[in-house]
Amino acid sequence: MAATAQSFDILVIGGGPAGMAAAVCAAECGARVGIVDDNPKLGGQIWRGESDHQGKSEAAQWAARLHRSRATKLCGIRVFHQPQAGILLAEGNDDLIELRYEKLILATGARERFLPFPGWTLPNVMGAGGLQAMVKSGLPIRGKRVVIAGTGPLLLAVAAYLRKHGAQIPMICEQASWGSLTAFALSLAGQPRKVLQALRLKRDLAGIPFIPKSWPVAAHGQGTLDKVTIALPGRTETIPCDYLACGFHLVPNIELPMLLGCQIRNGLVMVDELQRTSLPDIFCAGEPTGIGGLELALVQGQIAGLAAANQTSIPQGLFRQQKKARRFARGLDRTFQLRPELRTLPQPETIVCRCEDVPFSRLRQHTSWRAAKLQSRCGMGPCQGRICGPATQFLLQWNPDSVRPPVFPARVESLAAITDHSELVGSVVTGGQ
Ligand SMILES: Cc1cc2nc3c(=O)[nH]c(=O)nc-3n(C[C@H](O)[C@H](O)[C@H](O)COP(=O)(O)OP(=O)(O)OC[C@H]3O[C@@H](n4cnc5c(N)ncnc54)[C@H](O)[C@@H]3O)c2cc1C
Repeated sequence: MAATAQSFDILVIGGGPAGMAAAVCAAECGARVGIVDDNPKLGGQIWRGESDHQGKSEAAQWAARLHRSRATKLCGIRVFHQPQAGILLAEGNDDLIELRYEKLILATGARERFLPFPGWTLPNVMGAGGLQAMVKSGLPIRGKRVVIAGTGPLLLAVAAYLRKHGAQIPMICEQASWGSLTAFALSLAGQPRKVLQALRLKRDLAGIPFIPKSWPVAAHGQGTLDKVTIALPGRTETIPCDYLACGFHLVPNIELPMLLGCQIRNGLVMVDELQRTSLPDIFCAGEPTGIGGLELALVQGQIAGLAAANQTSIPQGLFRQQKKARRFARGLDRTFQLRPELRTLPQPETIVCRCEDVPFSRLRQHTSWRAAKLQSRCGMGPCQGRICGPATQFLLQWNPDSVRPPVFPARVESLAAITDHSELVGSVVTGGQ
């Protein structure tokens, strides 16, 4: 069926910090380990491009350990289907790969959440993490005015990064209130590493207005963005800018765990203290189990790797760190919950599904995600609902009821090679869902 096939004792999907830590720990126990990521380099959202194993950074140290561990790295490969238990199918640049495993560790990370508002589809309105990634890949940002808006700690990390690279930041707009931000800051008191990070950010962002309880209501421009209107406490203000970097915290990538049948609750993959999912021999680590940042990803990855390799003596210190990191994740969740006012952002003509050009008014005619998909093609385009799905979940309280293969758009040849799997045939006809 597949052009090439590879077998592993333990297969890790996702090469961010969680996946790298899992692969290192499992391989150091002697297991035959494969680690797969759809990007050309490992490192995930935070370490991509700096996980070269030569330097002294934390990323470089994990990359060096991974290199020494002899785990097989499979980069530029995207897993899109599980035709039967123990076998995954993935696509490379121009081949189809069959990946066989005894045990599986899912470390598929998270993505930014976008909310639609008038003008959000204009060129130069971008995800905050997306703009950062483009600057890392060479987009010139020196001297550009970048308004940063939305919610979550990523906004601050991106603002600091862009400023360091010469951008002017007229304002950082955070929809959470001072009250909840203060409570969150106080809860960090027992975590010196986080306090240090916060102090560093405060220093790096000195002089930039940071406005809680504010959010973007419209982006304006003829052909490209030239200003953005922000709702501030009691008034609105329109600010000229070259870019709007905008994201509303993160959404866990749970499509693959859902396809496999892992138990999901409140949008998160359920795991026990050994990172075992509800399915035998399938583990999950990092952001799909809760948005918790780098430390949570690393500690969960280590535990998952050791547990999958049947290590009975996992250091107790890891479990203590895991508990602490989970507490931090719950705090993030509480603090950066979206305020109900944001549900009023889209106007009837505002595009919600940008792949299929579906405006808000068309979606409001339906009562569920499934009905809207069938009648309007919302969520049926190339992103497969990864952008409009979380938006409609918040705006209209719709829940995607199931995930069907392929979890990512796949080439026709790949689909044709597996047409003996009837569910896949169905999804080809219906556009992938
Ligand atoms: C856009 C963005 C930017 C971020 N920037 C920062 C930052 O600057 N600073 C900061 O502190 N935190 C940042 N974060 C948060 C950071 O990603 C997390 O704190 C942490 O790194 C999560 O690690 P992880 O291993 O769980 O996931 P990730 O780092 O997201 O790694 C998951 C990897 O799995 C891959 N993957 C997913 N599905 C498949 C599949 N089916 N097949 C193959 N590969 C797959 C993904 O492409 C990704 O490379 C960012 C998050 C996002 C979404």
